[in-house]
Amino acid sequence: MGNIVKQTRTPALRTPLTKIAGTAKEAQQRAKLDSERRKKAVGILAPEVIAHGRDTSGHDKSANGKPVNSSHTAYHLLMTTLDGQPRRITAGDLARFTDHVKRVGKQFKGGITAQQTINLSAGIDRKRANEHIKWAMFAGARGSVFRFVTSASGRTKGVHRHFVEVDFLEFASAVASPMTAPAAALRMSRGHLRFNCDCGRHTFWYRYIASIGGFALGRIETGFPKIRNPKLNGVACKHALRVMHMITTKDTTTLQAISKAIDAQRIGKNTVSVTQKQADDHAKAIEDNHATILTSTEKLSPTRLLSKVGQALQLTNNKERMAAEKGLSVMQKLGVISGGMAQKLLHKIKGRL
Ligand SMILES: [Zn+2]
Repeated sequence: MGNIVKQTRTPALRTPLTKIAGTAKEAQQRAKLDSERRKKAVGILAPEVIAHGRDTSGHDKSANGKPVNSSHTAYHLLMTTLDGQPRRITAGDLARFTDHVKRVGKQFKGGITAQQTINLSAGIDRKRANEHIKWAMFAGARGSVFRFVTSASGRTKGVHRHFVEVDFLEFASAVASPMTAPAAALRMSRGHLRFNCDCGRHTFWYRYIASIGGFALGRIETGFPKIRNPKLNGVACKHALRVMHMITTKDTTTLQAISKAIDAQRIGKNTVSVTQKQADDHAKAIEDNHATILTSTEKLSPTRLLSKVGQALQLTNNKERMAAEKGLSVMQKLGVISGGMAQKLLHKIKGRL
C-alpha cells in the first residue's frame, strides 16, 4: 500500500497488558462503572427537551404526565460550545441540535460497516489511532460479539488498555449460509456492525451518535453531547478505529477468529476463546505491521482522486451542479468519500458559479 508507518515498539510493556485471563470480566466491570457514573450524572440535555424545548426541571411530572428523569435539566441552565466558546444554551440552539440529529439519523439509515466507520471518522481520531494505538488483539467471542483489546495512549493515569467490542449484524446469516466458514467470515467482515469502547472519547463524544445512528453496542446514550461534540462530528475513537482497520485490511488472525466463531456456532458452540500465546502473537503482529488507517478516498490513487475533483470543478450550470451534488451524496452514502470531503467538494463547486 506504500503507506506503512513503523512505530517504536514497547515490548517491555506488552506482556502484562495483553494478559488474556480476566479480560471479559474487566470489560464488564468497566461497563458497570460507566452505567453507575451515568446514573449519577447531572445536567443531561434529554431528547424531549431538545424536541420541545420544554423546561422540565423542578417538577416531578412533565406536561404529558410522565415521570421526569431527575438528571434532565432545563436547557437554558446548561452550557454548549456550539459556536466555540462555552455559553448558555438558547432556544435557537435546540433547533440546530435537532438539525444535527436529523443529519446523523439520515447518514446511518442503512447501518455502518467497518470501512464506513473509518470514512466517517474525524481526521484527528485517525491521526491519534495511527500515532498512539500501537497494538490490538482479538480476545474472544460470544455469539456475534467479538472482543478486542487495544493499547492505550498512556495519557490517562492508570489506564493502559481499552476494550473494543464489535457485534457483527450478519453473523447469524453467515452461520446459516452454505458458504465455507472462511468465505462467510470475509463476507460478514464487510457487512454492518455495532461497536463499543470503554474509553472517555467514545463515552462522551460518540456514544450519543452511535445511539441515534443505531450502531451503539451496550448502553444507549440519550444525553446530547452539548459541550464535547455539539455538531455531532466524527464517529469513532482511536481504539475502535484500530480495530476497524484490522477488519477492513483482512487481518489474518481477526478473520480466522471470525471463521472459527462461525464454525463453532455451526456445531452449537457459542464462544471462542484464545490462549495467551495466540493473544501475544496477535498483538505483536499488529504492532509489527502498523499500517496507516486510510479512508476509501485516501486509498484512491492521487491520479484518480484528482480526476474526480477535476470533473466536479468543471461543471458549470445549475442542472449539472445538482447532478454533481447528488453524485457526491451517493458517493458519501456508499462510503467512497467522507462527509468532510463531500462538503469540501460542494463548496468548490458552488464557489465556481
Ligand atoms: Zn476508545
